Amino acid sequence: MKILVAVKRVIDYNVKIRVQPDHSDVDLTNVKMAMNPFCEIAVEEAVRLKERGVATEIVAVSIGPTTAQEQLRTALALGADRAIHIVSDKRIESLAVAKLLAKVVEDEQPGLVIVGKQAIDTDNNQTGQMLAALTGLPQGTSTSEVIIQDDKARVTREVDGGLQTIELVLPAIITTDLRLNEPRYAKLPDIMKAKKKPLDTTTPEEMGIDVTTKLKLIGVAPPAERAGGIKVSSVDELIDKLKNEAKVL
Ligand code: AMP
Repeated sequence: MKILVAVKRVIDYNVKIRVQPDHSDVDLTNVKMAMNPFCEIAVEEAVRLKERGVATEIVAVSIGPTTAQEQLRTALALGADRAIHIVSDKRIESLAVAKLLAKVVEDEQPGLVIVGKQAIDTDNNQTGQMLAALTGLPQGTSTSEVIIQDDKARVTREVDGGLQTIELVLPAIITTDLRLNEPRYAKLPDIMKAKKKPLDTTTPEEMGIDVTTKLKLIGVAPPAERAGGIKVSSVDELIDKLKNEAKVL
């Protein structure tokens, strides 16, 4: 079985986000970028399925600027066999990403597609669902366990109030939640080997997919600064402050 894994280049989750002075966007100047954490989990799951003999080939795909090849090379170092880079410098919204991935699914015919639950830069949580709608493939979102048996995937989903287990007929799409696995780190020899693994490049134009944005970014603002906390000397004082200062009671 072939597995297709989508990996997105995002701001490293340790970085404190800065906003551009004119509030037009997030400031990416000299900011450390990394693979989206949910995509790391997606790659790890694919690699584990290959190690268990369930998968035979892992194809990593990323849509983004030339620099997104760094994240594809990381996926190759972690165990992907080859990579597809759809090069674009534009801000590509989820629907366009899903359309591009749908075309890759059509060309590659994977048995399983694994994408992250959400990208931590835009927090959309919609690409996997849109891809399922466009391809007509069954989907299991926010998964914390995946078991492949014959032509089915039994997946456990993290839903409000508990866990839900569903069975999907392959080919299917799953989106990864945090508890699915703990991703490994790439080893130096594998990083070296990854440089020689195949990485094909294409563009949305070559693929015949219109990625014109349908959304307008109006502005970006940092969260309000939090005032420091204070200690109160009694419950009465606390209640008084909640009533008269915070006005929440
Ligand atoms: P989102 O719906 O934007 O929160 O993203 C969910 C998941 O879709 C990510 O974790 C990736 O697996 C995939 N994805 C979103 N954008 C891209 C991109 N530009 N390139 C590759 N995969 C992407």
